Amino acid sequence: MNKAPVRVRFAPSPTGMMHLGNVRTALMNYLFAQQKQGTFILRIEDTDFERNYDPGAKQILADLAWLGLDYQEGPVHGGPHAPYFQSMRTHIYADKLQQFEQQHLVYRCFCTKEELDKKRQRQLALKLPPRYDRACFNISAQDLENRLHTKQPFIWRFKLNQDEAVLVHDLAHGTISFDMKSFSDIPLTRQDGSFTFMFANFVDDVLMKITHVLRGEDHLSNTAGQVAMYLASGLTPPVFWHLPIICNAQGAKLSKRDFGFSLQDLRAAGFLPDAVVNYLAIIGGSFKQEIMSLKELAQAMPFDQINPTSQIKYDVEKLRWINHKWINQYSAEKLTALCLPYLRKTYTNAHTVPLETLHTLITLIKTDLTTLADSVTALEFYFRAPTLTKEMFAQVQHEELTTIITLLKQHSLSSASDSNEFLDTIKRAALQNDVTNKALFVTLRIALTGKPHGLGLHDLINTLGIAESQRRLTNLTQLL
Ligand code: GLU
Repeated sequence: MNKAPVRVRFAPSPTGMMHLGNVRTALMNYLFAQQKQGTFILRIEDTDFERNYDPGAKQILADLAWLGLDYQEGPVHGGPHAPYFQSMRTHIYADKLQQFEQQHLVYRCFCTKEELDKKRQRQLALKLPPRYDRACFNISAQDLENRLHTKQPFIWRFKLNQDEAVLVHDLAHGTISFDMKSFSDIPLTRQDGSFTFMFANFVDDVLMKITHVLRGEDHLSNTAGQVAMYLASGLTPPVFWHLPIICNAQGAKLSKRDFGFSLQDLRAAGFLPDAVVNYLAIIGGSFKQEIMSLKELAQAMPFDQINPTSQIKYDVEKLRWINHKWINQYSAEKLTALCLPYLRKTYTNAHTVPLETLHTLITLIKTDLTTLADSVTALEFYFRAPTLTKEMFAQVQHEELTTIITLLKQHSLSSASDSNEFLDTIKRAALQNDVTNKALFVTLRIALTGKPHGLGLHDLINTLGIAESQRRLTNLTQLL
């Protein structure tokens, strides 16, 4: 259908944080461009000054960089269609509006918000589609002149051909037909003279030669109006893909109250960008191999046969599983660098630990990590000596515990040449005194870490070091 080189864009409004729906849209555009050897453009839709909470789109740029979604044309890189901030393109929209005016495609509408609300209510009461009644299209030339003379505020509306059906080509849904009879003529400006999303978005898609528009399903009816503008301008509209809405486990649209709604949540909790993009690419589809890099995803995405679902469920457990898999693919060096900020935030002494020791520690606990933040609990034993209480040893029989303590006093770790020798000696002595290996190991582990389960004793003693391990065992011997 569309033979031109693929050009897609991610067009966020900088209204604050990126939520997962935005991220998925950005990702799909990126992957689509990669697969089709096209161009991925970033355009910042900042025409609504009141909602511009992220000036310069700094957060968006940082988020995309973190995710590894590089664009070829956009704010920082520039490109042949610069500027890529809509707030800097007002003159372009003004020119296009003038062109529309000359072509008699638009008219001024003086109706106030209150009047429009009233009309809407009336239409609804009559069970008619609440479309604008075109009162202002029909005003006389004289009336128009008077209103302009008295500077009555107005907006420009695009006049739809209400007899036509607009066809939208959607990659997932095929051809969708919209009957323009139920649509209102499209507002192109606001009363303060600024341009609406509907218009600026359309103008830029045309000028930036966008071939495919991949955006959320909530834009479906906007698409119908925008396609009508393409047709009236004698242009071929792009192909669309209206991405399904991401829902929570209860089937409601994902909201701020759901964990992981924003990228910031996920990042702070220690999810990896590799895992986030991997997860968001594969939800809603079925893939033989589920763990994939961006490059592999770009090849694997079935863009030529997209499932026409309208909702996809956000499943944090699956995301956690993918994150765990990714963590285990990373080298100790890479993982240590990623975990270090979390460790340093909780343990002040993390600053002084040699990198090599940290690598060893991370290697030991790597398979237990679901998120980077989990390294904090997994390595607590290293950074904080446990404060031992008798209750901690409740699962060990009192007699066994006293025997172990006596044995530890006789066979100290610091007088052994290494952990092997110490453990062999103490195991032998324990057996001779009717203490089971199980009781011995649990006791030593609790003494060293505060917890009955976890790393093997050799690893524990070797990473803690003989001196520190001995200190902790001495704490045990002083307990009773
Ligand atoms: N600025 C719009 C949004 O953030 C862009 C929609 C589109 O991709 O066309 O929803």
